[in-house]
Amino acid sequence: MAARILDGKESARKVKSEVAAAVAALDYEPGLATVLVGEDPASHAYVRGKRSDAEEVGIVSFHHELPATVHQGELDDLIGSLNRDPDIDGILVQLPLPEGLDSERVVSSIDPDKDVDGLHPRNLGLLVQDRPGLRPCTPSGIMRILDDYDIPISGSRVVIIGRSFLVGRPLALMLARKGVDATVTMAHSRTRDLAAVAREADILVAAAGVPGLVDPGFVSPGATVIDVGISRTEEGLIGDVDFDTVSEIAGALTPVPGGVGPMTRAMLLSNTLQAARARRDDKAPGSA
Ligand code: NAD
Repeated sequence: MAARILDGKESARKVKSEVAAAVAALDYEPGLATVLVGEDPASHAYVRGKRSDAEEVGIVSFHHELPATVHQGELDDLIGSLNRDPDIDGILVQLPLPEGLDSERVVSSIDPDKDVDGLHPRNLGLLVQDRPGLRPCTPSGIMRILDDYDIPISGSRVVIIGRSFLVGRPLALMLARKGVDATVTMAHSRTRDLAAVAREADILVAAAGVPGLVDPGFVSPGATVIDVGISRTEEGLIGDVDFDTVSEIAGALTPVPGGVGPMTRAMLLSNTLQAARARRDDKAPGSA
């Protein structure tokens, strides 16, 4: 039987209309600063998409483009001025940065209250402690799509392939927290017999960045499969999951494109709203 398709575009539309309604009720316009360094076409396309999403929901975007040759000090100065700017609620620095620039230093220099990517060490620390804060967009988007499609999580076995701080690790924390209650295994490039581990999953999340890694041998019949991977090939964007064969065995499956990607973008808007409310209404981030 063909898997149910978990439509990220549809879920993202819902998130966006919720954010748009909430923004319309504010007596100020939230501001999102986007910072793009260098000429990478994929990064340019991502930032264009994020800016047009922002404008769609009533968030004002302030765009800054710097050449790949920019000195770290100039980038630091820009972040410093955005941190101080009262009209800016969220700062997004498009990663990866060109060689020679220190991404960790840049991410850590963003005011944590404006860190709408949720990658600042303070926000990741708050996530570990299960305290309110800005959460990374991709894992938040995955949680939201699971919720929108009523995929049962409590007591279920989740296997996440990939342990990056962008996706796998924060997602594992979100799924295992009290009240969500999944039992989570984080698999990675050194996992022995990955297919056997993956087959134990009720929910399998593939976030390795290896096109077609997950074939039917990784999937237990009826499992939910979330494909985070994005690889750019001549045929277009390819996920980590072999969609055609896995859709025959999985119970539910996110497509690529049109699955986790749009959710990641939508959660950036939701985080910008959260950051704006927390700053301007003088509450702790996450307490909205
Ligand atoms: P990363 O390179 O930082 O991490 C990849 C992880 O996968 C590592 O932990 C590694 O151990 C594991 N891995 C690699 N090869 C493996 C293999 N053969 N078997 C098992 N595990 C393996 O990457 P990332 O930033 O976490 O991104 C992962 C993928 O997700 C990429 O394709 C990226 O483009 C995509 N991505 C998509 C979105 C989205 O919105 N859809 C967001 C972020 C990342």
